[in-house]
Amino acid sequence: MRILYAMISPSIILQVGQAMESYSRFLDAFKGIFIATMTFLIVLAAGVGWFMARRAVSGVEAVTRTAQKISGGILEERVPVKARGDEIDQLATTFNQMLDRIQTLLTEIKEISDNIAHDLRSPVTRIRGVAEVTLTTGKSLNDYENMAASTIEECDRLLDMINTMLMISKTESGVDKLSHEEINLAALIREACELFKPTAEDKGLSMRCDVPEVSPFIGDTQMIQRMISNLLDNAIKYTPSGGSVAVSINENETQVVVSIEDTGCGISPNDLPRIFERFYRCDQSRSQPGIGLGLSLARAIARAHRGNIAATSIPNQESTFTVTLPKSLSSDHRRQ
Ligand code: ADP
Repeated sequence: MRILYAMISPSIILQVGQAMESYSRFLDAFKGIFIATMTFLIVLAAGVGWFMARRAVSGVEAVTRTAQKISGGILEERVPVKARGDEIDQLATTFNQMLDRIQTLLTEIKEISDNIAHDLRSPVTRIRGVAEVTLTTGKSLNDYENMAASTIEECDRLLDMINTMLMISKTESGVDKLSHEEINLAALIREACELFKPTAEDKGLSMRCDVPEVSPFIGDTQMIQRMISNLLDNAIKYTPSGGSVAVSINENETQVVVSIEDTGCGISPNDLPRIFERFYRCDQSRSQPGIGLGLSLARAIARAHRGNIAATSIPNQESTFTVTLPKSLSSDHRRQ
């Protein structure tokens, strides 16, 4: 009950009352509904929160699990990408791309070390073999002189290989290591052709050098000479008697394109993407001398000059190597 009192006169008190039963029923019903609704909402919010947190953390957990497996030695492992396109998917995709790159680099390093080991073992075995035979059967001074000569020859081959590898590393370290000289590229190529002409003629090959009088270019003379020599040497080496080798220059205002074409054994489509890798040699050319570093060095030199080198070929018919070089080494010329 709600009751009001009022003193009307000293002897009269007025008392008025109202029954509160209906209000109490309403409040009780309201309390019941409020508690039930709030309990339901709190449970629902906790459930949704837990689900969202799990969903977010599960992606990070997948990355962590993959990283743990990789550190345990399974480099082929990748984080599953759920195609939701959210931040976790982006993290997983970037992580997988990084792993792909690391795996490729490790495979390349392994192949290079295998090749170095293989290419070092053969000459060292030969040097040891010759020394052993001379020691056990050699009688005359002549035998020992032959052993010394053969050792020098093998050592020269080894030194050539080691020096070429060092040169590739140095060249790959960037344009700053190059000297920036003003070169007449056309004259440089003409000289190289003259130098290789006797070798080509001895092999029964015709050689054409179709270059302009002057072709100005800024770069490292020694490096460019080395690159052209490697390409000419290959063209002559891999072209059988009766074939031809042609060198030409095409240029515009910003770049110069040197093409070296031969009518040689060609390169199969399987080998073509790999010939610029260190130590890679196509099967059909194993009978020829070489260590498989010439084209790697040529490409490193072209790239150090902010250019590039590409090869096209028709097996058993022809090969063309195209070197594209910007005329100036200034940094506004990007790699092709
Ligand atoms: P190599 O010392 O074997 O010549 P390179 O790096 O210069 O090494 O060349 C790699 C491989 O590419 C060669 O072994 C050869 O199989 C192939 N090649 C390069 N130039 C030519 C060419 N002009 N014609 C055919 N094959 C070529």
